[in-house]
This record gives sequence, structure tokens and C-alpha cells, in this order.
Amino acid sequence: MARSGYAWDTTFLGHRTLTVHPEHPVRAEVLAPERMLVDVPGLVRVAVDAALGLPGVHRVHDPVYIDEVADACRRGRRSLDGGDTLIASDSFDVALRSAAAALSVVSAVMGGKLDNGFAAVRPPGHHALVNRGRGFCIFNNAAICARFAQTAFGAGRVLIVDWDVHPADGTMSIFYDDPSVHVLSVHQDGILGKGVGAEDQRGCAAGEGTTYNVPLPAGTDAVSHLTRFGEALEVAAARCRPDLVLVSCGFDAHVGDPIGGLRLDDDHFRILTQMVRRVALRYCGGRVVSMLEGGYQPDILRRCVRMHLEALLD
Ligand SMILES: [Zn+2]
Repeated sequence: MARSGYAWDTTFLGHRTLTVHPEHPVRAEVLAPERMLVDVPGLVRVAVDAALGLPGVHRVHDPVYIDEVADACRRGRRSLDGGDTLIASDSFDVALRSAAAALSVVSAVMGGKLDNGFAAVRPPGHHALVNRGRGFCIFNNAAICARFAQTAFGAGRVLIVDWDVHPADGTMSIFYDDPSVHVLSVHQDGILGKGVGAEDQRGCAAGEGTTYNVPLPAGTDAVSHLTRFGEALEVAAARCRPDLVLVSCGFDAHVGDPIGGLRLDDDHFRILTQMVRRVALRYCGGRVVSMLEGGYQPDILRRCVRMHLEALLD
């Protein structure tokens, strides 16, 4: 049995935007540790080290953008980009805490206290660019964790696996020319517009061949989905030979999700997790840190997180 950690923070109940918005505090409420640690015995609660947040965010994001976010929240603005990335007065603090929670799990895993762990965070991160928030994302948690593992723990190469229904477009853009962080995104074709996350987007310059996109047509059956995921994961891991595997862990590829059009069921998230763990055991002593991205039906979210945690522990 692995030593698995779980990070969550009461601040994730904040960042209250609109009650009708899909990225809602109920997502954090259903993942409260009181419930999750009982449902998944053996899981260890990871204390969130808030001091990791701001320096972590600065390793990835433009300082001008970071100030803009803080300022927008202070001034009571309601959205970051004029579009779907809504904010409230506490959103800067909640986004920092979201990064800090994921970083706390990375710290425990890279420091050898845990084998793997999951950070149940919101807001999500994988669409955020160096200098812009978008798609409900303010700071790019996966990118922040990769840079932290490299600078604080000397990780040479990091593999980011993103199985959210949406492409990891923000994460990919951050590491597009960087051969030290490989990004695999398996997602619904065209969900963010034609060409976003297309198969021929493979990185550039020194990072050529270190970005892997697997766009799946809406309605793809689960068996094909898992097969394509497994094949791409093997290729990416063999090329990357990671010192740490990060998972941008969205659950909106579930058949019951109100946003996505893919067809995974609860148990398939167990299988995805097992595949990632096998690869991590082969290359990096089983070190896996996953963090919540999408997943917008609260009951389904809770059930699938439980599947993911059971597979991390197993
Ligand atoms: Zn998503």
C-alpha cells in the first residue's frame, strides 16, 4: 500500500463568483476531508504550507499579471478577462492557497514523506497562461508544481499528464519550448475551438516532441479513450523519463458531466490512475502528485475523486 496524501483547505469554499457558474464552491464542499478521509481509509491529510504559494506563483507567472490579479480583486472587479474567469474579492488569496496546497503535496512527495498525493483545489489552473488567466483558471498549478520540483528538489524532468476533457492549453504554452517538462493532454477534440490541442502541436525549438496531444472526437467510447491514453502515456514517459509525474486531474471527461462530451465512467478514473502509477513506478519511484482541474457535477466529482484516491493508495 502506498503512502498517499490529501490536501484541502477551507479557503476553497470561498472564491464565490456566481451561483450559476459551474466552477462553484460546492465542488470544494463535496471534497471536504472529514468526508473523504473516512471514505478512503489510510489517506493522510497534508497540511497546507501557505508560505509556498506566492514564491511558487512567481516562478511561473509574470509579476505584472500577479499584481493585476491582486488589484482586480481589491477593486471589486467581477472577472479577470472580461469573460468566463470570474473573480470575487478573495479570489487572489484563494488562488494562492490553491497553488500552496498543490505545492505542499509536491514537497511531501519529493521530500520522501509520501509516495503520492492529491490536492483537492479550486480554482483550477491548466488554462492559465504566464500573463493571463482564462477558462476559470487564475494561476497554473501544474506548471507551478513542475517548476517547484525542479528548483527546490532538483527534479531534472517532469511529466505533466492532463486527462481533463479540455486541452491543457495553458500548461502546454508555458513549456512549449522547454524539453525539461513534457506535457501530455488527452481531451475532447475541438471543445475549446478548432485546432486547440491538435495532434500536430508537439512543442518547438528545444521542446520539439515534448508536447503530446491526443484529441478524441466527442462521444468516443471509453475503451478507445483508455487505449489511446495508455499508448500516448507510454510514449511520453519513455521519452521524458520523468523524476516526477504530475496529473492535471479533471473529471469532466465523465459521461455525466454537464460540460464535456466524452464517455468515461467512475471506474475509468481508477484505471487512468493505475496507468499513471505504473509509469511512475517504472521511472521515478512511484512519485505522483495530482491536482483537481475540471469536473462540474458535484456527486460525480466526489465519486470519481474517491476512485482516484483509492487507486493512488492501492
Ligand atoms: Zn475541463
